[in-house]
Amino acid sequence: MEPIKVLLEDQEIPRQWYNIQADLPTPMRPPLHPATGKPVSPEDLAPIFPMNLIEQEATTQRWIDIPEEVLEKYLLWRPSPLCRARNFEKLLDAPVKIFYKNEGVSPAGSHKPNTAVPQAYYNKAFGINRLSTETGAGQWGSALSMACQMFGLECRVFMVRVSYEQKPYRRMMMNVWGAECIPSPSDITEAGRNVLAAHPDSPGSLGIAISEAIEDAVSHPGSRYSLGSVLNHVLLHQTIVGLESQKQFAKIGLYPDVVMGCAGGGSNFAGISLPYVRDRIHGKDVRIVGAEPTACPTLTRGPFAYDFGDLAKKTPLLPMYTLGHDYVPAPIHAGGLRYHGMAPIVSHLLKENLIEAKAYHQLDTFQAGVMWARSEGFIPAPETNHVIAAVVDEARRAKEEGKEKVILFNWSGHGMVDLASYEAYLTGKLIPHELPDEEIDRALRAIEGFPKP
Ligand SMILES: *Cc1c(COP(=O)(O)O)cnc(C)c1O
Repeated sequence: MEPIKVLLEDQEIPRQWYNIQADLPTPMRPPLHPATGKPVSPEDLAPIFPMNLIEQEATTQRWIDIPEEVLEKYLLWRPSPLCRARNFEKLLDAPVKIFYKNEGVSPAGSHKPNTAVPQAYYNKAFGINRLSTETGAGQWGSALSMACQMFGLECRVFMVRVSYEQKPYRRMMMNVWGAECIPSPSDITEAGRNVLAAHPDSPGSLGIAISEAIEDAVSHPGSRYSLGSVLNHVLLHQTIVGLESQKQFAKIGLYPDVVMGCAGGGSNFAGISLPYVRDRIHGKDVRIVGAEPTACPTLTRGPFAYDFGDLAKKTPLLPMYTLGHDYVPAPIHAGGLRYHGMAPIVSHLLKENLIEAKAYHQLDTFQAGVMWARSEGFIPAPETNHVIAAVVDEARRAKEEGKEKVILFNWSGHGMVDLASYEAYLTGKLIPHELPDEEIDRALRAIEGFPKP
């Protein structure tokens, strides 16, 4: 019998994270200070992040030890199983073996706790007692709420208002884990008040909520800000996923031909794929593919440019594929894939042709997700459905080419708190969104005059 689940014992959990910056053929461009146009210094970032995480953000050391206290929490749900999707394979009737890392087994139901836990730990170790953050559909806010509770930190979450109103369950999870959740734009920050003055009915956006959370952090003593994706240290923490999968593949004597993930800010995609990108840099024949929505096609249509991470321009300028910091995405159901930018590491890898990117319509992604649920049982998060659509595509291609392939992907989370979006799909209420060309013109205007990467 071929294995369906490949498991690691607790003591086999990787004890270090992998830092791709040690192996890049060309170094990354630095984040810039918007006022001077010079690379940001650690001191510039000190009011926003604790120094131990700022050091992790910039380091080129290849392996970073995972602190014991973090490993102890990881072991509550890690190592996550590497699963073979035999039933889905049968449905696709293609010469492929499909494996996935089930990150839906974490307490918050997604990969987000992989970085929430170390971020809470490092802030606590630095003497911080309170974190502020933002969240879209609530996956990040709930993961950080749990992690803050574990290490005795207070937590305030600014949640994009439209999600706050339409998706109450993750806000309730945040409250269960002891955090405060505030709809954004709010009237408790200047950034929020400015938006409300111009648009009293603003549904909010991640860019606005980030501005509010940073302002909140820098204006409270003992507070820092925490981001759930995009930054180098976040992607570093997520490499636990790919590193575990390499140990698991070694156990069954296989190695993937293609590694895939959905890409919002880029953290779960990078988490599974960076250890394989390392192998690719060193000559291994492996393809790496990121899947994003056609409604927010950062990697496939955005320019590579220096841009802000938020609407109020409080972040450094980051070198990334971007749809412009003033982008307000269409209300697609994959809330976690609606960010205007892409992680600088992922952007750099695409620029260097080390990875590929593809975009999928919302209807195709839900079709793939429902096929998955009806064959494999587990109901995927709407974000995860994007990579499942990409897997379907890859399998179809393998069939056409008559080539056998081993596919690995990151099953980034379950959809048990997103069932309303499945109902919308099943009752024909979802429409496909394609980014209009005018929006690319707007993005180009948004980055006009910024330094060129
Ligand atoms: C947040 C989220 C994503 C998108 O974020 P990335 O940083 O791109 O990984 C994808 N899937 C799930 C389940 C999420 O919660």
